[in-house]
Amino acid sequence: MRIDLHTHSSVSDGTESPAELVATAAAAGLDVVALTDHDTTAGWAAAAAARPPGLTVVPGMELSCAWTGVEGPPVAVHLLAYLFDPDHPAFAAERARLRAERLSRGERIVRALAADGHPVVWEEVLARSAGGVVGRPHVARALVEAGVVGSVDEAFASLLHHRSPYYAAKADTEVLDGIALVRAAGGVPVFAHGLATSRGRVVDDAAIEAMAAGGLLGLEVDHPDHTPDQRAHLRVLADRLGLLCTGSSDYHGTNKRTPIAACTTAPDQYAALLAAGTGTTVLTD
Ligand code: AMP
Ligand code: FE
Ligand code: FE
Ligand code: ZN
Repeated sequence: MRIDLHTHSSVSDGTESPAELVATAAAAGLDVVALTDHDTTAGWAAAAAARPPGLTVVPGMELSCAWTGVEGPPVAVHLLAYLFDPDHPAFAAERARLRAERLSRGERIVRALAADGHPVVWEEVLARSAGGVVGRPHVARALVEAGVVGSVDEAFASLLHHRSPYYAAKADTEVLDGIALVRAAGGVPVFAHGLATSRGRVVDDAAIEAMAAGGLLGLEVDHPDHTPDQRAHLRVLADRLGLLCTGSSDYHGTNKRTPIAACTTAPDQYAALLAAGTGTTVLTD
């Protein structure tokens, strides 16, 4: 079984529609794919409707969270959530708040760029997100198409990274609250790319221990942004804390260079994840 538990469609910041994404997953030889768009479940129905026979689709999401138990600004924590009830009222309300936060923060970034003479227009950036879930990759593509930079990677490296003068933070969910919401909705929370230092500051082991005590159920160990040492460290931590280990590509279509199925999850870990999720079911033959 080949299992990829972290992918994005154009409903958030990927480039393929949910229907195209499940076709890509099948063509890559995957048996299981999870759709984990940022802060929205809006792609679930289209992915289910387009699911090719033989492919299992796991409904999921990547929740934008923050760890505030440190000096200085909060550390961004991405929380994968699987098999939760999309209608759980408090969790649905928090997702809606995060999407609104993405809009105001995206507009701040774009207006700051435009004020400095960069040819980007907020309304045009907004129109790039099929699901209204705007992220920096949408700004990056606008900058590429305007000829300001040569690639999405270059846009992040020069103008959109978290230390850039144009960067604006969003008010993300406190991660312990996020974990509690996912669990309350019957879902399985897994800490995404937890040691990926290329993305900015990362949390320490004590924070991961606190998350585990708060109901976290897994760590994304095999991820393209993790070095072999980071993976080994997370695997030991998962073992000590009794957490699942997952592996995933974090596929974003052509917004990133990583192919789908670049990293995968072991079948026994997937089985444990399925057993822990009670809010909704996988889509399968
Ligand atoms: P945001 O959610 O708006 O803060 O943007 C973060 C998203 O940007 C992540 O989910 C990735 O999809 C993407 N991203 C972050 N860093 C890079 C990078 N260096 N190159 C390309 N995409 C990136
Ligand atoms: Fe993303
Ligand atoms: Fe992420
Ligand atoms: Zn992701």
